Amino acid sequence: MNVAVWVARNGRRWPSAPAIADGERVHAHWGAFASRTAGLAAGFRFELGLEPGDRAAIVMQNRPEYLEAKFGIWHAGLMAVPVNARLHRDEIAYILEDSGARIVFTDDQHAEDLDSLVGRVESLEEVVLAPSDRWDRLAVADPVPVVDRDPTDGAWLFYTSGTTGRPKGAVITHRNLLMASLSYFADIDQLLPGDSVLHAAPLSHGSGLYGLPHVAKGAVSVIPQSGGVDGDEIAGLLNRWPGMSLFAAPTMVKRLASDPAVAGADLTNLKTIIYGGAPMYLTDLEEALSVFGPRLDQIYGQGESPMTITGLSKADHADSKHARWIERMQSVGVARTDVQVRVVDANDRDLPMGEIGEVVVRGDVVMAGYWSQPDATAEALRGGWLHTGDVGSFDEDGYLTLRDRSKDLIISGGMNIYPREVEEVLLRHTGVRAVSVVGRPDMEWGETVVAFVVAAEGSSPPPIEDLDRLCLDHIARYKRPKAYRFVDSLPTNNYGKVLKRELRGMLEGEAYSDR
Ligand code: AMP
Repeated sequence: MNVAVWVARNGRRWPSAPAIADGERVHAHWGAFASRTAGLAAGFRFELGLEPGDRAAIVMQNRPEYLEAKFGIWHAGLMAVPVNARLHRDEIAYILEDSGARIVFTDDQHAEDLDSLVGRVESLEEVVLAPSDRWDRLAVADPVPVVDRDPTDGAWLFYTSGTTGRPKGAVITHRNLLMASLSYFADIDQLLPGDSVLHAAPLSHGSGLYGLPHVAKGAVSVIPQSGGVDGDEIAGLLNRWPGMSLFAAPTMVKRLASDPAVAGADLTNLKTIIYGGAPMYLTDLEEALSVFGPRLDQIYGQGESPMTITGLSKADHADSKHARWIERMQSVGVARTDVQVRVVDANDRDLPMGEIGEVVVRGDVVMAGYWSQPDATAEALRGGWLHTGDVGSFDEDGYLTLRDRSKDLIISGGMNIYPREVEEVLLRHTGVRAVSVVGRPDMEWGETVVAFVVAAEGSSPPPIEDLDRLCLDHIARYKRPKAYRFVDSLPTNNYGKVLKRELRGMLEGEAYSDR
């Protein structure tokens, strides 16, 4: 099994249907995409001297060549290491070093930085620019057939976003990618040629993964020319490409929903917005539903179980008359078709419904392990279940509500406090735009709750008494923040996830009594 067969197959079946679009323009039809990938694979093997199993990194902004590089890598039997192009050069160097990448494919914007790493990163032999004349020459090499791979061979070395430490490379196999794609059809949508997927989020992460079922079914992959999220551009692309789905982090969904160009656009061509990767707060979800209608589908997954642990379907979102609709909208939905999901205690024993513990998952979508880290692999996969590090509980209907990353849990006076719950309450204040709650070490209580608050656009910070009152009205007294910090913005990583460790760092050495 090698997922590259999808491109080769579509090239025969629909040679003159669009495969990759550069904005509104067709970059390649399936016939050309298939022959270019087969040519690139030959070039990678025979001109660049790469062998099946070698790692080839991609450090590029979203662009059509990204998909050519990725499928060329797979076609040649190599392992792709898609690196977040917005990382700092030293962070990129770490990933190249750790993965032992021999080659990196990159674009103009990153070429200088990457060239400076040749010689510094031991394994790195060459940096190849795309687009470039060389790229085009590689693409017209005498094509080779798709290199056969075992389903357990690594396809994608997925570096975790590192919100809690150094990124680790999750080895995602061809079977993992196949299962993730099949369960997209089982749980999210059926796809057809003529449908489209918009890559407004980085292809190195969720958008790249969610793109795969679209490639499998012959839909067109649309890369916005802005390289990101631009309301006017997205409105235009929606007119051009029917049956459009896109993956968006919750912060992106929020931005799109409040963008007048998107809100005013004809949404007939919009099929599905898949959101996930971080908590979606209820107020933001309600706003997004009012703009996009029942086109939202939530996914909970992680690099170690790509795209696939639980999901909250479009039908769930639409079922607003259900007695527990609000609770469901705050959940991450039910276990996906191809996995088993449990909530367990510290000894891996099942916890009863309603009790909070670590979420563990098992299935053919779960990674083979962490690259070159046998101890971390054994720890994460102990007992044959992936330990997600996320904390949550099931309700009686099987809906999972995540509380937090286990590392973000606050224990104050022996009581567990889940920051998400406090954040949800503070976000109800109209003067609050964003909030993140963390624990601060405390001699007396172990930890105390501190809220970092970003005031709503154009308003001054809301009075602490108001925020306090809101908490007292909605959650137990011990959960309310003992201190507030008003900030202009929250530190986030390049995928928009709030970096709580940085917030905790900002509190180091503070006395607990100041508020
Ligand atoms: P990554 O491996 O970088 O994609 O990060 C995965 C982590 O993001 C998960 O372990 C969760 O902590 C978080 N996450 C993913 N999806 C969701 C979701 N739908 N709701 C809340 N948190 C999520």
